Amino acid sequence: MRRALCYAAVIAALLSSPWLAARSAFAESTDSVANETGADRQAQIKSYSRTRNILAFVQVAWTLAALALILFSGLSTLLRGVAESAFGHPLAARALYFGICLGALALLQLPFSLYAGYAIEHKYHLSAQPLGGWLWEEWLGFLVALVIGVPTLCLVYWLMGRSPQHWWLWFGAASLPLAVFLVVVAPIVIDPLFNKYTPLEDRELKDRILRMAHQHGIDARDVYQVDKSKQTRKLNAFVTGLLGTKRIVLWDTLLEAMPPREIEAVMAHEMGHYVKRHVWYGVLTAVGIISLTALLVSRIAPVLVSHLPTRLGVGGVDDVAGFPLLALLAVVIGFLLGPAGNAASRHIETQADLHCLEVTQDPEATIASFRRLSEANLSDPEPPPFVEFWLYSHPSLAKRIARAERYARQHRIPLSHAQPAAGLHEPAP
Ligand SMILES: [Zn+2]
Repeated sequence: MRRALCYAAVIAALLSSPWLAARSAFAESTDSVANETGADRQAQIKSYSRTRNILAFVQVAWTLAALALILFSGLSTLLRGVAESAFGHPLAARALYFGICLGALALLQLPFSLYAGYAIEHKYHLSAQPLGGWLWEEWLGFLVALVIGVPTLCLVYWLMGRSPQHWWLWFGAASLPLAVFLVVVAPIVIDPLFNKYTPLEDRELKDRILRMAHQHGIDARDVYQVDKSKQTRKLNAFVTGLLGTKRIVLWDTLLEAMPPREIEAVMAHEMGHYVKRHVWYGVLTAVGIISLTALLVSRIAPVLVSHLPTRLGVGGVDDVAGFPLLALLAVVIGFLLGPAGNAASRHIETQADLHCLEVTQDPEATIASFRRLSEANLSDPEPPPFVEFWLYSHPSLAKRIARAERYARQHRIPLSHAQPAAGLHEPAP
């Protein structure tokens, strides 16, 4: 679902704060190389992390430029005309307009996606996925974005026409059942389009995990593994779904790379998300961010639309020809609200880490799992504070390690290997 939402920046702004993916993962999604050590590896971690950080900001700029191009080139007005001449019914014409417009946006974003999502990952040996497979998944993601995005945007414009002043409130209210529905169906309808989800295969590991799961009141059938190795070498795990589709998912790469003790630490973190109902917390945060974004769009957009050049022929704020402008505004607002969503996310990640330490009483394995993540995922343990504040849904690995070490000291649990991973400073006592 994350991939699908990457496509349509518009929907991304309205509907896909980090939350709607509603995945409380184990780590930031960065990515890996094998068999290099020391300074080389550290240089690679720094170089890859810096590239990813820059790309996160470039992506926003690229999307804004693409939307501006669609608007100011007159393409949007042209598309509205095409859609209206194809369909007499206004709703059908709008749906067609949004479909083509999102397609144009995806095409304009494709060069960036190819670079950021494919070329860079291959350059750092993080992925061995063939280009054909990657493009196919991009296409699938686009179709998912259409299925979600077109009806959502039709609803927004319908509400705008009915209630120019308060449409944002109705949309905010509607976004709750919409978000819940998406999170419920994602694990059974959307995720299987991209990967195969199967019950955990390793019987011995399964028994260990099941014992832990039962202590948490978690059903065995809720633990899955997924064949992420076909796309990436990075390691991760996450909690997804709601109601009957709620589940913990471990990537096969993680099962392959981590010893059982560290996998248990990862599981304990995920079980923390599971029992503390963090997916619900995520959905509610998303609804809050969506509502605030819609409110700001509803107040600012009319002013901006009134200043558009008359040659564009945008009749008013509820004229779909002006949609790229509203989307542009939503992307900017979504970007500015990003740190709020990420701060909320880092809060629950800290809770899950503490839950892990309390349940396992094994800070050593927890720390080892963090160090392995940094190495395998080329994840900078100490990103620049500004980058962590703006982009990180998880606390930096250095902070997570420091917390586990603090926990060990407070509870007098000895740590046998006090070797910090290269590049990680020992925290001040
Ligand atoms: Zn987590």
